Parts: sequence; C-alpha cells; structure tokens
Amino acid sequence: MVTRHKAYIGIDLGGTSLLVAVVGPEGEILGEVKRKTKPELGAASVIERMVQAVHKAIARSGLKYRAIGGVGVGVPGPVQPKEGLVVHCPNLGPSWNHLALEKRLSKHLQLPVTIDNDVNVGAVGEHTYGAGRGSEHMLAIFVGTGIGGGLIVDGKLYTGARYSAGEVGHMPLMAGGPVCSCGRQGHAEALASRSAMEREIRAALDGGRSSIVPDLMARQKRSDMSSAILGDAYDARDSVTVEVVEKAQYYLGLLVAACVNLLDPQIVVIGGGVLERMGDAYLEPVRNVAIEHYINSEQADQVRVVRASLGDYSGALGAAVLARQRLA
Ligand SMILES: [Zn+2]
Repeated sequence: MVTRHKAYIGIDLGGTSLLVAVVGPEGEILGEVKRKTKPELGAASVIERMVQAVHKAIARSGLKYRAIGGVGVGVPGPVQPKEGLVVHCPNLGPSWNHLALEKRLSKHLQLPVTIDNDVNVGAVGEHTYGAGRGSEHMLAIFVGTGIGGGLIVDGKLYTGARYSAGEVGHMPLMAGGPVCSCGRQGHAEALASRSAMEREIRAALDGGRSSIVPDLMARQKRSDMSSAILGDAYDARDSVTVEVVEKAQYYLGLLVAACVNLLDPQIVVIGGGVLERMGDAYLEPVRNVAIEHYINSEQADQVRVVRASLGDYSGALGAAVLARQRLA
C-alpha cells in the first residue's frame, strides 16, 4: 500500500503554542513548526495559523503535498472524534464551543483530518514512540496545571462508552478534600497537580510561614508558581515547598495505585511540566506509596512507573499516529 509510506502531520494545539510536525512512517520528524496560538484572536484565526504552520512544516520537510496522508490534531479539551467536533476548550475560549474543527481544517488543507483530546494523543505518542513502546497495557498520567490521563488497553487507545475514559485527574482520593478545577472536592488534580501545590504554598504563606517562593516569583516576574519555580524552591530545600511536594507525591502515588489495581497495566508513564522539571527523582516516593497499595504483590516488581520520554513531542507524534491509524 502506498499510504503506508506516506507522512502524516501531527498538531499539538495548546493554549499558548501550537506545534506542527511532519512525521514519517517510523516516527521520524521530517519537518516542524512551532508558533504562538494567540487564542484571543478567536477560532477562525487560530485555524488560519494552523494552516499556515502546516504549509511551512511541509515545506521544511522537503516533501510534496501529495506525500502527506492526513492530519491529526490534539485539542486541549473534550472532543467527539467520530463527529470531528470540539466540545469546548476552556483555555482557547468560547469560539471553540461545538466547533467542527475536522471539517474546517480539512477544507482549508484539502487533506483528511482527525481530532482527539490532547492527553489521549500524548498517551498514544508515548505508547508508540516513547516510554511505553512495546507495551500492551499502559496508563499515561500528565501532571501540570491539571492532571490528565490516557489509557492504552490491548495496544489501543481506550476511550470508554462516551469518550471520557482516562480522566484520572478527577479520581476522588479524599472525602471532603480541596476543591478541584471541576468544582468537586478531593479529586487527584486538587491534591497532586502543580496548581494544588501552588494553593498549598499560598496557604502556608498566608499562615505566616516563610518561603523563598515569593522571591523566586518576583525575580522571574511571575504571578503564578511555574513548575520551574517549584523545582528551584525544592532544589533549594525550601521547607514549605519540600512539604508540599512530598504531599503531592503521596497523592500521586495513591492515584497510581488506584489505577494499577483497576487496570493492571505493564507500565505507568508519567509526564507533564512538573515531571519535566523535577526529573526521575520525583517518581521514587510516588512508586513507594503506590507499591504499598498494590493488591497483587507481583505488581510491585513488574509494573514499571517511569517518566515520559518524548517531552513536548508526545502530543504531535501521537496525533500523527492517530491520523495514520484512522485516515490511511
Ligand atoms: Zn475534578
């Protein structure tokens, strides 16, 4: 089949930037373009920016347009992939509500398009080309501002009956716990995400504890606590930050254990901004907590809990994989 040799385009559409990669049959990146998303311009302009970036990425790859088999897009919000619809994207704005992105993009590009959720495409990327390569059953957890998850079951993306599987960030872990971004209490995201850590540090500061975090924020001219700031404060053994990080690691460990007991995967791949900054050492306490809660004692030795390996590329690569699977 000719299509097997075609290149596919993966787009990782984020609230801040968008990454377009032309991906060859073996996952090689043949051309890429990164640009600012500028969501304030509205969906039509962002689509236009995506189209321009795709043309540029194809030009950089040196491939002819007809060598491209299709385009996959990872969208930062819930989607209906069969209908090609974006449900909504809180960090892109209201012009994305119920947007027929697949149709719009396909018309502009004159190429077939498929869309999915950004966390799902990240999981597919890590499974196909990254830390989860070769596994049949894999769970991906991305820890950043929020916590997202994607499941690979029997080698394929598992989506559930209503396309909402893998929402591990909203796993309830603490009755009556802190309020989550979704409005409910005690979910994993409210306990182990970067924003959960930020909230805890702010509470400690409000309670009169001293910390170097406000200084780091002032020096970096930031009003929020980025993963870099948390990492710097942790490395400096700032006592508030160390306590808060250890608490977040504990809850991430509980989350991993809950998922492992449910799914019995071969591997749990953990990525996202916090892990990118904190590195492998972040996972050791997470593993130790998880192991204490595994129900099958063999899981302690056999379930690998590892860091994602594709960094910023997991989304674009995974989107290209889905395009190849669905559009070839
Ligand atoms: Zn929640």
